[in-house]
Amino acid sequence: MTIDHYAVFGHPIKHSKSPLIHRLFAEQTGQPLIYTAEDVPQQAFAMAIERFFLNGGRGLNCTLPLKELAWQTASHLTPRAQRAKAVNTLTLQADNTLLGDNTDGIGLLNDLTHNHGIAIKNQRILILGAGGATRGIIAPLLDHGATNIVIANRTPEKAHFIAQEFQDLGDVTGCGYPALENQRFDLLINATSASLSGDLPPLPPKLLRDNASCYDLAYADRPTAFMDWSHRHGARLALDGLGMLAEQAAEAFYIWRNIRPETATVIAYLNQQRQHGIPS
Ligand code: NAP
Repeated sequence: MTIDHYAVFGHPIKHSKSPLIHRLFAEQTGQPLIYTAEDVPQQAFAMAIERFFLNGGRGLNCTLPLKELAWQTASHLTPRAQRAKAVNTLTLQADNTLLGDNTDGIGLLNDLTHNHGIAIKNQRILILGAGGATRGIIAPLLDHGATNIVIANRTPEKAHFIAQEFQDLGDVTGCGYPALENQRFDLLINATSASLSGDLPPLPPKLLRDNASCYDLAYADRPTAFMDWSHRHGARLALDGLGMLAEQAAEAFYIWRNIRPETATVIAYLNQQRQHGIPS
């Protein structure tokens, strides 16, 4: 029996939960594969990717700071990766070319809607941050019927620029944080990397409509500063991105193995691990 090799490249990568998640998916579905994590800084990406696929690698996930490089490297792109200008999943094709995809958006959508019952249709959504993750989530949110999306960013020009790029898909506008004063939203999504350093973007206090939910794409062993802010300001739900991580991995697994793993038990296991402070 051939054991296929998959991996995640990123920098840093030591604390990645992807090897554990894919091991659990492989056990659950009986798929013969291994999944490893490699620390690959940007300057080493081209060599590392060539070596990985020459040595028989079948598929690769790319995380910070490599998603844009992966987008440039892929020979072909799915429409959602083309839109996002960021690739987190590379798949070796029969003709030895690499197909680039972006599973972050569908991962977030599945966690919000299937796992937490959060509505997207007719909702007014605020996205904080204008980086690669934001690019990956705008189109699926609009596809699911969001009324409008406001992107707020520390560097407002980047928010304006992304908003313009997605305007053909729906009502998307960009701004800086001061322009959020007197605006109200049903769903707040923190797609900044501020949480990774315990920071919080400068948010006005009255951003949330009744029953609003808040979602931080980042995840940690403890609630993030954004989740704390959300609870203090009356959010119905304040979630982090652990479920999204498992869901985007499930979509990559499906692309590679044509089998959709079940995610609920895997997410429950990850949550249990962090409750008990077990590093993965
Ligand atoms: P990125 O491209 O580097 O963009 C980072 C964004 O955060 C930029 O808009 C930046 O603003 C903003 N920012 C950074 N520090 C800030 C601060 N202290 N205050 C306000 N804004 C700040 O990163 P990314 O790839 O989009 O990732 C964003 C976050 O999503 C990360 O935490 C990442 O781990 C998470 N993520 C999670 C998943 C998952 O599966 N759960 C998937 C993808 C991403 P400027 O433009 O002004 O610099």
